[in-house]
Amino acid sequence: MYDIPFVRPTVVGKEINYMTLATRNGHLAGDGDFTKKCSALIASILGANKVLLTTSCTSALEMAALLLEIEPGDEVIVPSFTFVSTPNAFVLRGARPVFIDIRNDTLNLDEQKLERLITPRTKVILPVHYAGVGCEMDVICDVASRYDIPIVEDNAHGFMGKYRGRQLGSFGVFATQSFHETKNFTCGEGGALVINNSKYDERAEILREKGTNRSRFFRGQVDKYSWVDIGSSYLPADLLAAFLYAQLEDREIIQYRREAIWNHYNTHLKGWADSNNIRLPIVPPHCDQAYHMFYLIMPTLASRQNLITYLKHYRIQSVFHYLPLHLSEMGTKFGGASSDCPVTEYVSDRLIRLPFYHELTPHDQDKVIDIIRNFKL
Ligand SMILES: *Cc1c(COP(=O)(O)O)cnc(C)c1O
Repeated sequence: MYDIPFVRPTVVGKEINYMTLATRNGHLAGDGDFTKKCSALIASILGANKVLLTTSCTSALEMAALLLEIEPGDEVIVPSFTFVSTPNAFVLRGARPVFIDIRNDTLNLDEQKLERLITPRTKVILPVHYAGVGCEMDVICDVASRYDIPIVEDNAHGFMGKYRGRQLGSFGVFATQSFHETKNFTCGEGGALVINNSKYDERAEILREKGTNRSRFFRGQVDKYSWVDIGSSYLPADLLAAFLYAQLEDREIIQYRREAIWNHYNTHLKGWADSNNIRLPIVPPHCDQAYHMFYLIMPTLASRQNLITYLKHYRIQSVFHYLPLHLSEMGTKFGGASSDCPVTEYVSDRLIRLPFYHELTPHDQDKVIDIIRNFKL
């Protein structure tokens, strides 16, 4: 139906070879060679203490909620402008999400509004590095440390991005990655829990292995493995880790390509955007972004909808993004409707994301740009 879709999963070409190798290794379940290779590589990139591959970013968030021992009545501060899993993983443990608005420029949580939302029940702060541009971590970390509240970074968009020269995913006690097919690096469905404090290492392994000490058993640290804690099945198959490893190895190539696509949109849409009161993404100079997406903020909801329809006519797919969580059916059950999130509401109505994927050809991208520049508001 579309000649140019909004997203196509990244494929570098050697994924299947690595899956064949995993098959020959005879280890298809979790924690095989490729799982270890991926974890070690991600840990070295992020400078993390430990990284555990998971079946999704959602399951990594659920693990973070378990490890922080979130209980009914606890509060978590979360941007209203994010994917449902960011709060849902904590709501699953009985927590109440407290919705924070976003900044006008980066669309990241507005750190100036953070302190006033903290109560004695606040157990976690959940920054999301939207589009792979870092949140204002200086302020967020300062507030979090003054109140002694852990930070969990939802880094689904931000892998390989930096804030003031430091890797996104290295600030929180935990960070969570996504390797869903819509993200920069993928194995279809997958994720990782990044652990930046060694006191959680052992329990994290246990929770991920169905509440058993199987990981220690395989390392020869205990002579039998048994049921020692609560837990679930959060390990991805080594077959998927093999697929992912191919992409992690080629991470510079993938990111270089995404950077080129992002810059091309930015350069060639700027004049048109400026003269039509349309806003392009803002990336502060102290942020090295992860090039996860390219969006426009249109002046009105109607112009956004018209642009989507107009592009569809040319068989080009464009999409809006998050609906405000504080106004969702679930969010309102937590009193979300009384949240003060005007920027979230404004942006949610007006934001449109353009086709952005590894194999987007220069020819197709130029076509998208030309057609957009002929759009009459
Ligand atoms: C994609 C995404 C998730 C969920 O990732 P899964 O791997 O699909 O569970 C969570 N948070 C954000 C911000 C995302 O973009």
